[in-house]
Amino acid sequence: MPFKSLNIIEPILRSLHEEGYRTPTPIQQQAIPIVLEGKDLLGVAQTGTGKTAAFAVPIIQLLSDRQHSHSDKSKRKNIRSLILTPTRELAVQIDQSIKAYGRHTGISSVVIFGGVKQGQQTNALRRGVDVVVATPGRLLDLMDQGFVHLQHVEIFVLDEADRMLDMGFVRDVQDILSTIPKKRQSLFFSATMPPAIVKLAHDILDHPVRVEVTPARDTVDLIEQSVYYVDKSRKPALLLQLLENDDIRNALVFTRTKHGADSVVRTLERNHISADAIHGNKSQNARQRALDNFKAQKTRVLVATDIAARGIDVDNLEYVINYEIPNVPETYVHRIGRTGRAGASGTALSLCGPDEKGYLREIERLIKKRIPAAHDHAIAKLDRLPVEVHPSDRRERPARPQQHARPQPQHSRAKPQNSEPQLQHIKPELKLARPQHPPAKQQTPAAKPQPSGGQKKKPNHGWRRKKG
Ligand code: AMP
Repeated sequence: MPFKSLNIIEPILRSLHEEGYRTPTPIQQQAIPIVLEGKDLLGVAQTGTGKTAAFAVPIIQLLSDRQHSHSDKSKRKNIRSLILTPTRELAVQIDQSIKAYGRHTGISSVVIFGGVKQGQQTNALRRGVDVVVATPGRLLDLMDQGFVHLQHVEIFVLDEADRMLDMGFVRDVQDILSTIPKKRQSLFFSATMPPAIVKLAHDILDHPVRVEVTPARDTVDLIEQSVYYVDKSRKPALLLQLLENDDIRNALVFTRTKHGADSVVRTLERNHISADAIHGNKSQNARQRALDNFKAQKTRVLVATDIAARGIDVDNLEYVINYEIPNVPETYVHRIGRTGRAGASGTALSLCGPDEKGYLREIERLIKKRIPAAHDHAIAKLDRLPVEVHPSDRRERPARPQQHARPQPQHSRAKPQNSEPQLQHIKPELKLARPQHPPAKQQTPAAKPQPSGGQKKKPNHGWRRKKG
């Protein structure tokens, strides 16, 4: 089915073609006609399904049609659509998508999020925009300061509603909603539908049409997965060994902690692999720069914590490496879903320490599939070649420069160290190892896992305390 059969106007068809989209994804096929009819929509879908275009395309079209029917075009633009999303990275991506899909229509958008100076955002608002994409905290700030007026909003989108709840934004969302006209079209997206989200959807939507896609299973099926059982102390060496594979042009590496992410970056850089970290201790600008460099393939490896990685969307990302196994099984599905986007294939490699096996079993229970152990040269090399890593680049505290680290409680948070480690380089023999071949594709059909609920954070019920 081509996009044309969804009655999309020519200027948008042209930009979709320029984006390389040939056929609509299932959520787009279902959602676009409903939104174009002006109906409310409840979309049960997560990122990676093409849901951004599923709402952005019809919104651009509706606003563009209505713009042409307005008589006085010289007037300053009012905000006619508001899209709320929980993270800065998602907000940036949605804004980029709107600019891309709407580039031939004259529809303008601005992205609003915290952690950066507000000048650029307020300048754009002053000039007037059709669409605002925002995280709740900064939006409320700018509303308080009188830069944002929402009384002309016609179409409201709540994206990733379950994460909004996890991150304590629901109260903020309700406050924002109270300033938007009641007579509006509302679109609501959530990967999961726990009772609190069902209630929120009920409060926001008016006779919605429900659309559901089940991406997690499809994604998991498409991704080649394998696990390396390895002592924690040998993970740095194994990671370097895996990255000897030239087929891995770029990889997204996940750690559980910010300190862990920085440590992996140091290890990689000292071994001449370009890498950057993206986590909550980095400024928003540093995070965006790291993401942009990774997308532009200027850095080969992006090391991320789960929270920071939410919504990261990198076209053609082939490899996800779980440097540490997540302790929430859904997080695994979410992590590996960064690859295998929109039907593409991908590879997920996991490094599992002895104390992480329990987590792995939980993941396998969730995805109803055994993740095969990798039996390739990487692990064999490690068995033969002892590799030493500087103590400060272990997750354990450096009391003893030992080879095998003591297991560490899973929820402990190592404090970042100020001193730069004098990492010993991986022995030269190790660097000579030849590229590994990706593990054989798993044939077993997977059953349906629950989409990620992300890591739980304490809800924040305070009025405007959380900055988006
Ligand atoms: P999303 O779920 O909106 O985050 O989209 C996931 C990825 O799929 C993004 O990289 C989009 O650019 C891509 N994408 C969305 N729709 C299509 C399509 N119809 N054809 C190909 N790629 C798409």
